[in-house]
Amino acid sequence: MPNKVLSVCLLCALISACASTDKAATEVEPFCRVGNLTFHTDFEAAALHGCAPDTLGPVLTIAPEYAPINPSPWYAWRVTAGPNSFGNSGERSITQRYLHGWHRYPPWTSPDGEHWERLPDSRVSVAGDGSVTLQLDIPPDGLYVAAQPPLTSTAMERWVSDLAAANGLQSSQAAQSVGGRPVTAYESDVSGRRGSLVLVSRQHPPEVTGGLAYQDFVERLFVDDDLGMRFRGRFVIGLVPEINPDGVNRGHWRTNRRGVDLNRDWGPFTQPETRGVAEWINRLNERVPIQLFMDFHSTSYDVFYMPHASDDPAPPGFAGAWLANLNARLGDDMPAWSGQHNPGLPTAKSWARKQFGVVGMTYEVGDTTPRERIRRVAQAAAEEMMKLMLQIEDKPR
Ligand SMILES: [Zn+2]
Repeated sequence: MPNKVLSVCLLCALISACASTDKAATEVEPFCRVGNLTFHTDFEAAALHGCAPDTLGPVLTIAPEYAPINPSPWYAWRVTAGPNSFGNSGERSITQRYLHGWHRYPPWTSPDGEHWERLPDSRVSVAGDGSVTLQLDIPPDGLYVAAQPPLTSTAMERWVSDLAAANGLQSSQAAQSVGGRPVTAYESDVSGRRGSLVLVSRQHPPEVTGGLAYQDFVERLFVDDDLGMRFRGRFVIGLVPEINPDGVNRGHWRTNRRGVDLNRDWGPFTQPETRGVAEWINRLNERVPIQLFMDFHSTSYDVFYMPHASDDPAPPGFAGAWLANLNARLGDDMPAWSGQHNPGLPTAKSWARKQFGVVGMTYEVGDTTPRERIRRVAQAAAEEMMKLMLQIEDKPR
């Protein structure tokens, strides 16, 4: 289907007709061709919604799954250059326009879809209308371009399967997504444990850095050192690594397959993903009471959204002590800490606060926070959390 400028983009406002398709299948034919450049969407989390020729080169269109929408314009596509185009060089200028959004994510490129590098700023030019022009050096086998190195469902599944096998975690299907994909939950050994900690991730598909922090935080809980083993001996760890598999696979900006922001559905519970995960958490709570809930996301900077300043949910004093201990340890790396964020909205953390009377936290990571810092902060946050939870448990009652 060459040159899909068309009304396809308008149709994207209607989620059932969106040009995003489930990309895991082998590409039958490329998404489009412009001159000697061919654009492909034959990989997980690919997102490209239109392309057209212009005097300076191709103009791509990136569209959300519905509008208006939170401006998180995810894009991911692959380009190959024909052999006879503009001399011998693979250098190309490609413009990307956003419907209902503007350029937010600095582009990453990869020759193989596995090894990614940030495109240097000198090759990225953002225009006043929010579009962006990229200068790309396209190798003979083509080039992947994406808003972040994709953290695909396949990669998340491989990661959690390895973790589950190594640590004897039990898995169960908490929900089936609107698109028919499983939403899988995992739990560590419950026998004799006094409390549960639940960690969830990927409600919002483009929020890759939050997904990476999730992996780092969880991995620290399962280290076989004294702290990790004592913690796991007292507490159940419950995991739902990917609540929105349809959105992640389809390259959505924000929502599930029905165009619903899942992190505004913890209360209404109109969607199978949120309903199923909440029921799974409730069932875990009946066996071993929930004591802490954490939901991992990304935004423009590192920030931990905690209970409102006037609020001190159980365990008493925990939130303030965690803040103080992390501050002392991380110094300049300390994320911002806010108790004012959306307390009235039906978010996952607000639901956990109301439902179980415990700390519900949204762990936000900056879009461009370096990988090493994501890991350092997540490991420190996990260690200080474990120490505090154990201290509180040890207090005489
Ligand atoms: Zn989010």
